[in-house]
Amino acid sequence: MVSPYKDNPHSWQEILKVISRCPVCGSVYNTQKAKLFAQKEKAQMVHFSCENCLGNFIAMVMNMNHGLSTIGLVTDLDFEDARKKVGLPVITLDEVISYHNDIQNNKIINLN
Ligand SMILES: [Zn+2]
Repeated sequence: MVSPYKDNPHSWQEILKVISRCPVCGSVYNTQKAKLFAQKEKAQMVHFSCENCLGNFIAMVMNMNHGLSTIGLVTDLDFEDARKKVGLPVITLDEVISYHNDIQNNKIINLN
């Protein structure tokens, strides 16, 4: 699961600059331990574990047209669980985005 991030400036490693502290206890992360566990065309998901409070966190990084967008989630899942869970055919980020666009488009149509 090693990412060739050096070839991609908009890689998940960018978020390590943003999420450098645990959102729960404020401890500085050992960012070496952040792991990429899922990657799609426009989104990467990275798992962190805080050594201080033992919290688990997932950051979802989306490559939007205007740049990177990051969503952080506190989770009970450890890295293996997260990887298994995301491996299931659940709704994908692309589907969420397209739903969102559909809803907005429908609204515009309905208003007319
Ligand atoms: Zn913590």
